[in-house]
Amino acid sequence: MPIESQAIDNYITGLLGPRYDLAHYDALLAAAAAGGLPPISISASQGQLMHVLVKATGARRILEIGTLGGYSGTWMASALPDNGRMVSLELSQKHADVARANFEAGGLGDKVEIIVGAASDTLSRLIAENVEPFDIVFIDADKGGYVDYLTKALQLVRKGSLILGDNTLSEGVLDGATDTGIALFNAAMAAELRLTSALVPVMKSHLDGLSISVVK
Ligand code: SAH
Ligand code: MG
Repeated sequence: MPIESQAIDNYITGLLGPRYDLAHYDALLAAAAAGGLPPISISASQGQLMHVLVKATGARRILEIGTLGGYSGTWMASALPDNGRMVSLELSQKHADVARANFEAGGLGDKVEIIVGAASDTLSRLIAENVEPFDIVFIDADKGGYVDYLTKALQLVRKGSLILGDNTLSEGVLDGATDTGIALFNAAMAAELRLTSALVPVMKSHLDGLSISVVK
């Protein structure tokens, strides 16, 4: 019998949830919904994976592209050391306002900077400013921008940094005609000689994917 995706996600979340403050994460989602934001955050089980990746790499600087209500950002930023920082890029002022309140509710207000604007422009500015490299970049904004974000992310990292691509398994990767940009991103990621990559299926209401690339 095939395993149902949501049941697996519920199992993972239930198994490991007690080790995290799941009530807080649920409250973040509730605040996002109350603020009128769409329910398109990562799942809790994916948040756990990303939290572990931050810890495992000892990341001190995270760049997130696509803040929404600060849900994925909280999973990552809460794994940072005391001197860690996250910069999160968001187009919508409304989303940024909800996220700011959510980060503050989680005691992460001092760790997280949200930059409002088109991510492509902000990334170009960060490159021009020659900012300290990021240890992890999480790409999760408009799918049509993913290839551009990957190109720019590669200019904002160092050897050993991780670049994560969200929502990288979908119908569109199997059928190019319905692709929203993910198939192009996956192809660019796979062809990129500066990266060693894996594309990991993740479970939520449906099967999705997270690409994990390490910079050579
Ligand atoms: N990472 C979040 C979900 C992000 S949803 C989480 O899992 O919790 C995608 C977000 O990208 C939305 O908030 C949307 O407003 C933002 N976005 C869309 N186009 C963008 C752009 N060009 N630049 C920056 N952010 C953008
Ligand atoms: Mg996503």
